Amino acid sequence: MDRNELSSVISELYGSLEGNTVIYTDPEDGIEKPLTLYDEPIFGISEASDPLYGTFREENIIGPGYRPPQEWLVGAKSVISVFFPASEKVRSSNGRSTDTASVEWSYARMEGQKYINGFMEELVRILSEKGINSIYPSGDPSFFSIVGGRGSGSAPKDPDTGLYPGAGADTFGSCWSERHAAFVSGLGTFGMSRGLITRKGMAGRYGSLIVNTALEKDVREYTDPYEYCIKCGACARRCPAGAIPEDGPKDHTVCSPWVSASGKRLAPRYGCGLCQTAVPCEKGIPKKGQ
Ligand code: SF4
Ligand code: SF4
Repeated sequence: MDRNELSSVISELYGSLEGNTVIYTDPEDGIEKPLTLYDEPIFGISEASDPLYGTFREENIIGPGYRPPQEWLVGAKSVISVFFPASEKVRSSNGRSTDTASVEWSYARMEGQKYINGFMEELVRILSEKGINSIYPSGDPSFFSIVGGRGSGSAPKDPDTGLYPGAGADTFGSCWSERHAAFVSGLGTFGMSRGLITRKGMAGRYGSLIVNTALEKDVREYTDPYEYCIKCGACARRCPAGAIPEDGPKDHTVCSPWVSASGKRLAPRYGCGLCQTAVPCEKGIPKKGQ
C-alpha cells in the first residue's frame, strides 16, 4: 500500500463512517441541532524501529510502562498516526469558555472518542482485507494508562465517579502515547500545554495503528520536541486550574483533578481543553509574535 492509497482509504472512511455528527441541545438557544465533531483527519507515518520509540521508556519522557511498537505487534514495521482536528464549532465554543469546557467540546471528548475508536477499528478491518495486519493500541484491552492520578484508556470507568480505575493514584506512565506516536510520525511538536501542534493546530484528538507492512515514512520537519511552540504563554493564561507554569510545561497533577472534576459540571460528559482553544496554536502552527 502506498501513501496515496492510504490517504484515499482514510478520506473515504471519514466520508462514510457514522458517528461524527451528533444531535445535541445548543445551550445558547435550547434548540436541538446537528454538531460535527471533527474535520477530515491528517496522518503521518513512522518506522516502528525508529530509535525515538525506544527512548520513551525513560522516566523523564513517558516511563517504564511504555511499550514500543514491537511489543504491541510481532513483526511491526510502521506506525500510522491519525490526527482528527476539532471542528470549527467545537473549537470556537470552547474558545469562548473561560472556566469549563463547552458542551460542544465535551461531546467531542466523549462521543468523539467513541467515533475515533470506531474509525481506527474500521481501519484495522480495511487494512486486513488488503493483507495488512495491524493493531490499534489505544483500543486494545491491554491498553491502560494512569496519568496524573486520572486513569485513561479502555479500562471501564467507575459508573459512580465517572473515573477510570487508578484515579487518585499518584502514578504516571502510559503503555502507549498517541501524541508521541504523532511526534515521531512527523505530525508536529509539543507545546507548553503538552498537546501536539500540527499543521492543523492542537485542538483535536489522535488515533494510531501499528502495522506489519513497511510503509514509506514521513520526514520529520523538526528536531526540537517544542519547535512549533512560540512560548507565548496563552495556554497558561487560559488554564483555569493554573496547571501550566508561565515557562511550561503543564503539570499533570494539577490538570488531571480539574478535568476529572469537570465530570460534575458536564455530566454525563467531561473535558476541558481550554489550553487548546483561543490560543495561537489552536488551528495551525503559530507564527512568532502571534
Ligand atoms: S499557546 Fe503558545 S505557549 Fe501554549 S502551546 Fe500554544 S504556542 Fe505554545
Ligand atoms: S492544562 Fe488541563 S486544566 Fe488547564 S486548560 Fe489544559 S486541560 Fe484544562
